[in-house]
Amino acid sequence: KQRVLSGVQPTGNLHLGNYLGAIRNWVEIQDQYDNFFCVVDLHAITVPHNPATLAADTYAIAALYLACGIDLQYSSIFVQSHVSAHSELAWLLNCITPLNWLQDMIQFKEKALKQGENVSAGLLIYPVLMAADILLYQADKVPVGEDQKQHLELTRDIVNRFNHQFAKDEPVLKLPDPLIRKEGARVMSLTDGTRKMSKSDPSELSRINLLDTPDQIVNKIKRCKTDPVRGLTFDDPERPECNNLLTLYMLLSGKSKEEVAAECQDMGWGQFKPLLTETAINALKPIQDKYHQITADKGYLESVLRDGREKAEAVANQTLADVKAALGYSVPV
Ligand code: ATP
Ligand code: MG
Repeated sequence: KQRVLSGVQPTGNLHLGNYLGAIRNWVEIQDQYDNFFCVVDLHAITVPHNPATLAADTYAIAALYLACGIDLQYSSIFVQSHVSAHSELAWLLNCITPLNWLQDMIQFKEKALKQGENVSAGLLIYPVLMAADILLYQADKVPVGEDQKQHLELTRDIVNRFNHQFAKDEPVLKLPDPLIRKEGARVMSLTDGTRKMSKSDPSELSRINLLDTPDQIVNKIKRCKTDPVRGLTFDDPERPECNNLLTLYMLLSGKSKEEVAAECQDMGWGQFKPLLTETAINALKPIQDKYHQITADKGYLESVLRDGREKAEAVANQTLADVKAALGYSVPV
């Protein structure tokens, strides 16, 4: 079987963008692959973080993977910082990655701009750590949202450079392909249809979290940005909020684009918003129920992560050893 790797940072609550852009797709394809899904907590400290909540956020995300339908029959779930090979391979790859490749990354520029003076070196080398995450598992496919496309291209560049310089005869690292679904690949903020929905957006109103209560969902959709135009349509560049909200309705209801376009073409916002609200609440209910069931037993989640770590380490340590050998490192005796 081909291998899949993907992950989410514990930088806050999972939102509809993470679900529709990434996790939902992991669940849909998992039975065709050998899958590793990690909670990428080393990435979470590239921006200022709260030590008091990091561990709890990490566990919550792992539990949400299960609640969203990740099946341990096909997939391993683990925590990035529990497998030390991630940090180690990232260092080795840092030393073969040209600095200017990293300075060109859009996400770095955007996140650095937001933070002003206090930008860490970690934020710059974040994509190299992400490359290490993927390459340790020799992943064939990496299902992610549209915003990660550039990082995947960088990962491929690093693979080619490494294999070319250090593993000419037999490639040591595998070239991964991004898996980006068209629908849901870029869910936009509820308060600004030109920016993506993000965990790190300071405004809670900008996103719907998977664990939001019905009241919170009602409130967020009531207050989300719309426009004064009557009749709702997809794909109008002048109406990014309209396209985003229709897309959310389409994906959460399971209806086709044609069905939604026909259903909503004569609607006003006053009619559409309650419809979207009810659809979102109903779609999240089973995930939330399962989440509460899973987190009621802390021992269960710990055992899932222990198993995941063992499976991950077996693969990751082998790749790390191969990379070190290719680079010419001595083996400790
Ligand atoms: P942060 O703001 O801390 O970067 P984030 O919301 O961007 O958080 P990540 O942990 O960086 O979430 O990304 C996890 C996965 O979710 C990635 O595959 C990413 O592409 C996907 N993703 C994130 N935001 C969206 C979005 N708005 N639409 C679709 N996919 C998304
Ligand atoms: Mg992100």
